[in-house]
Amino acid sequence: MTDVIVFNAGGHQVLHRVTLQHAIRMLYRNVARVREAVPGERFGPYPRPRSLELINYVYTRWVYHSTGRLPCTLSNVLRRDRFRCAYCGGPADTRDHIVPRSRGGASSWLNLVAACATCNGRKRDRTPAQAGMPLLVRPFVPSASQLSHQRG
Ligand SMILES: [Zn+2]
Repeated sequence: MTDVIVFNAGGHQVLHRVTLQHAIRMLYRNVARVREAVPGERFGPYPRPRSLELINYVYTRWVYHSTGRLPCTLSNVLRRDRFRCAYCGGPADTRDHIVPRSRGGASSWLNLVAACATCNGRKRDRTPAQAGMPLLVRPFVPSASQLSHQRG
């Protein structure tokens, strides 16, 4: 597990997880600081982060959703979307960021949909509009009971 946990400014609210590379870019751009480092490990000029804390507090819609009880893991996103690809309706086994993470999209329920590997690969780091791949579903924040009806 090389993911780095990103906390909001203040360090009390978990926002999402990013890759180590993404975390280093955040440090480089001075949008975050290291909250907790892996002892004795470095990544270039930085201590290798276990978690980051944003410099500026963010108030966004997805922050509220991300504080809900249900994490939007791959299996949970697949269950919410009934294992159907949001772009072609076929069997899904990946999750796609609607607004790509490289463009600031969050790993949140409202920005994640189930997708098949073909569509995920075709969309790449584009929005659905840019890729010409309209969503067949509208993402929503599921309740625990909505997920428990779907089996993986
Ligand atoms: Zn598909």
